[in-house]
Amino acid sequence: MTKRVAIIGAGPSGLAQLRAFQSAFEKGADPVELVCFEKQSDWGGQWNYTWRTGLDANGEPVHSSMYRYLWSNGPKECLEFADYSFEEHFGKPIASYPPRAVLWDYIKGRVEKSGVREYIRFNCPVRHVEYRENDGTFLVTVHDHERDVVESEIFDHVVVASGHFSTPNVPEFEGFEAFNGRILHAHDFRDALEFQGKNLLLVGSSYSAEDIGSQCYKYGARSITTSYRTRPMGFDWPENWEEKPLLQRVDGNTAYFADGTSKQVDAIILCTGYLHHFPFLPDTLRLQTNNRLWPLGLYRGVVWEDNPGLFYLGMQDQWYTFNMFDAQAWYVRDIILERIALPDRETMQADSQAWREREEALEDDEQMIRFQGDYVASLIDATDYPSFDIEGVNRTFLEWEQHKHTDIMTFRDKSYSSLMTGTQAPAHHTRWLDAMDDSLEAFLDAPARRPAAKPEEAGS
Ligand SMILES: Cc1cc2nc3c(=O)[nH]c(=O)nc-3n(C[C@H](O)[C@H](O)[C@H](O)COP(=O)(O)OP(=O)(O)OC[C@H]3O[C@@H](n4cnc5c(N)ncnc54)[C@H](O)[C@@H]3O)c2cc1C
Repeated sequence: MTKRVAIIGAGPSGLAQLRAFQSAFEKGADPVELVCFEKQSDWGGQWNYTWRTGLDANGEPVHSSMYRYLWSNGPKECLEFADYSFEEHFGKPIASYPPRAVLWDYIKGRVEKSGVREYIRFNCPVRHVEYRENDGTFLVTVHDHERDVVESEIFDHVVVASGHFSTPNVPEFEGFEAFNGRILHAHDFRDALEFQGKNLLLVGSSYSAEDIGSQCYKYGARSITTSYRTRPMGFDWPENWEEKPLLQRVDGNTAYFADGTSKQVDAIILCTGYLHHFPFLPDTLRLQTNNRLWPLGLYRGVVWEDNPGLFYLGMQDQWYTFNMFDAQAWYVRDIILERIALPDRETMQADSQAWREREEALEDDEQMIRFQGDYVASLIDATDYPSFDIEGVNRTFLEWEQHKHTDIMTFRDKSYSSLMTGTQAPAHHTRWLDAMDDSLEAFLDAPARRPAAKPEEAGS
């Protein structure tokens, strides 16, 4: 009998899973029936930008945390697909830090080419997954908003690719209820122009604080204060940006910090991270973890050890992204196609424990990058996903880190060589700080030049 596989989510991870199967089918693998349930009305996951916050048009929690003017926070060379290069997609080399719309276009290009859209049911949030002991299948219950019906189907396998940067972790600080300004989580941040001329406080010291602060600086915030719990980000910030220890309380518009200092602020953005949240899974199938490189319970980072019919993609903290999701998806595909045999539960747990112990001993970013690189390499070795220069990707990440520490406001002006094609990326036509238009057209085209004025117009 043909196996049935449910994939939850059509973001980069879920799309990698569809692409992995399609690639095997093209090479003659036995058919598998794929159904990908996607809550949003289009694919791309986080990269599918919406102006909405709160609830979407179907009354579901808005998934994407992305904002206008978001540009890749790392070199595109580190996330490039090994089976579909940027050069193939755009027909020419492009600069190393594309804006969101450009990366969305690239993600879509590969899956459009392989024709997997027909497997996706849009506007279909998965409500519940139940394991049926009697025959070892999964009952998946879905709300199809297009037909407005809730219905259940049986599958042999379930792949959870629902992401983990969508459900905000929202702490409260004393005085918030009487703060005279806007308080929001990074998940709801959309447009830096809202904070032009404002004194802004960002609570947190990770990517969101760094990047949202940088966006707001670029679009004219009067001052930026970031507040850290454990350690400052330590970049060489512009003059109107300062780092302070943790916020203690606010009183009116005054924010008080752990070092006894205070500051007048107009708005507060909580860049306080996200929760792994799977409201559709029972406890027996539900991954419970914080954001880290090696969550326990997942053999090779993907197989649910307590029930190996269930898989998770992309649940790790991420240095590597798109090509790691690919490596995972190809590996999961080969388990489902019975090309890779799983060991018993104790052996899987011992393997995970060994990775976890390695993770716990990591001391700095370089070690973390190399750890994740080793993980990706170990998966690729087991499948026919095209192998690529992982050490080259690691080195590119390290260069990127160095560039950020040299100048946090200009690192996006650098360019790198593709680890897939060897092509050196061109410098972008406009410095990131001066590039106010984040559209695909503006990024790909040479900057519009005003035509020289005709003599008779010149003096008018
Ligand atoms: C603000 C922000 C900036 C980022 N910037 C970068 C960057 O510059 N470079 C980079 O490489 N990565 C970046 N990332 C990381 C990003 O998470 C990954 O690039 C990638 O989107 C993860 O893919 P995913 O498919 O695992 O998850 P997601 O992209 O989150 O996709 C998950 C999909 O599952 C769907 N879904 C969720 N629940 C259900 C349900 N119950 N039923 C059906 N469907 C469901 C969602 O609608 C979504 O389409 C950023 C993330 C954020 C939040």
